[in-house]
Amino acid sequence: MKSLDELIFDNRFARLGDTFSSAVLPAPIEEPRLVVASNAAMALLDLDPRAADAPEFVQLFSGHKLWSTAEPRAMVYSGHQFGSYNPQLGDGRGLLLGEVLNNAGEHWDLHLKGAGMTPYSRMGDGRAVLRSSIREFLASEHLHALGIPSSRALCVTGSSTPVRREKFETAAMVLRLAPSHVRFGHFEFFYYTRQHEALKQLADFVLANHFADCQTEAQPYLAMFRQIIERNAELIARWQAYGFCHGVMNTDNMSILGITFDYGPYAFLDDFDANHVCNHSDDSGRYSFSNQVPIAHWNLSALGQALTPLIAVEDLRAALGLFLPLYQAQYLDLMRRRLGLQDADEGDEALIQRLLQLLQQSAVDYTRFFRTLGDSPAEQAVQVLRDEFVDLAGFDAWAADYLQRTQHHDDTPSARQTRMHGVNPKYILRNYLAQEAIQAAELGDYGPVRELHHVLSQPFAEQPEFAHYAQRPPHWGKHLEISCSS
Ligand code: AMP
Ligand code: MG
Repeated sequence: MKSLDELIFDNRFARLGDTFSSAVLPAPIEEPRLVVASNAAMALLDLDPRAADAPEFVQLFSGHKLWSTAEPRAMVYSGHQFGSYNPQLGDGRGLLLGEVLNNAGEHWDLHLKGAGMTPYSRMGDGRAVLRSSIREFLASEHLHALGIPSSRALCVTGSSTPVRREKFETAAMVLRLAPSHVRFGHFEFFYYTRQHEALKQLADFVLANHFADCQTEAQPYLAMFRQIIERNAELIARWQAYGFCHGVMNTDNMSILGITFDYGPYAFLDDFDANHVCNHSDDSGRYSFSNQVPIAHWNLSALGQALTPLIAVEDLRAALGLFLPLYQAQYLDLMRRRLGLQDADEGDEALIQRLLQLLQQSAVDYTRFFRTLGDSPAEQAVQVLRDEFVDLAGFDAWAADYLQRTQHHDDTPSARQTRMHGVNPKYILRNYLAQEAIQAAELGDYGPVRELHHVLSQPFAEQPEFAHYAQRPPHWGKHLEISCSS
């Protein structure tokens, strides 16, 4: 276990030089205070959880203090936003403080979001509000606990610094951890500015540090692109299986590591709705829940375009062809597990589609459906769930097929429950839960955020004392409008 001043920095990205990022110091926020910290994220840096109690902790993560060996940089990138190319984005309000080398030999980027203006701030103020910082923190740690790859979050610090959005709010910072902060948009920037030497340098950097096993392949860049496709197919399969809507799948928000990245107006589905659009600013529904699959493919094509100086077009095309089949196989596998099925049958895809249609038609709570299905033996569970459906004949027909499908499973009720509860969370980060915790935090009470974080970091555990967090959302909580403003 280390203390804060024992962290070892090895700033590989900074060493790439000024073509890829600019040196910028964090601008502190006033009267900083610790809102919430994640022990699990601290463990990634070998930090003793008690480090969060030290005054130094708040100072380091609010821009008041800096390790002498950190080298804060704002990274340059571009990207496709809502389908249109934006030539100049970059870290407008976040800084890569440096890369910490842990005891296991892993590098973790320390990225301080809300750290002030940078050369890429454009019209922005370089700040992040408390509300969106808490949302990013909660989601990062919760998705990880659900088994959905994600950037991580070490802590949120709040302040008295006023920030103007639709109304006046206060500034906060979130410390994000990830093995890399390279986005699809990094490659797009160097491709569209015709800096092909730098593009190659970036590809070599990513290859060496994050896809080392591809280096020995006959075509290392192509092998890397294939792995990026595989990882993203797996990521999107998990999003779809667990009802996660990202909300702003612009290529600058897509990680080359295939982790959930740059949280904005995200949502987990309450009632199942394939057409749900969680981003209030997304008028055309480009990033609706079901569109996430074709959009991920589109984004990977945009990355492929940026890699044309390094990889032959026909190879890129063939690799992109892998995305959908990979996605489908992963998604089917996850959904089979959620249904408690122990083997594969060719009728499973249709069985799942029929269920989703029934859930949609009757606006059934997505998370609670699967948890309840695992609560009791299958015959009993479908009887309990039957009341949720409007189309009773449709549900009965589905249930009969489902029961037939599970008939030859010879596990005991308790083995079935353990297996299903291990993949079907009891607790999910519903927007209204985040909203309630944020409202308390905005009034200076951080107890609810900390408790919610605690509950959501063990989403599969029963936690009877927190059962109220697993209830259906109240009516007001189902229709919250979350915009891009952050
Ligand atoms: P996002 O929508 O958070 O993914 O951000 C898109 C781009 O806008 C990125 O380049 C951000 O760094 C930048 N940005 C967002 N908010 C701000 C802000 N308040 N100040 C400066 N830049 C910002
Ligand atoms: Mg972004």
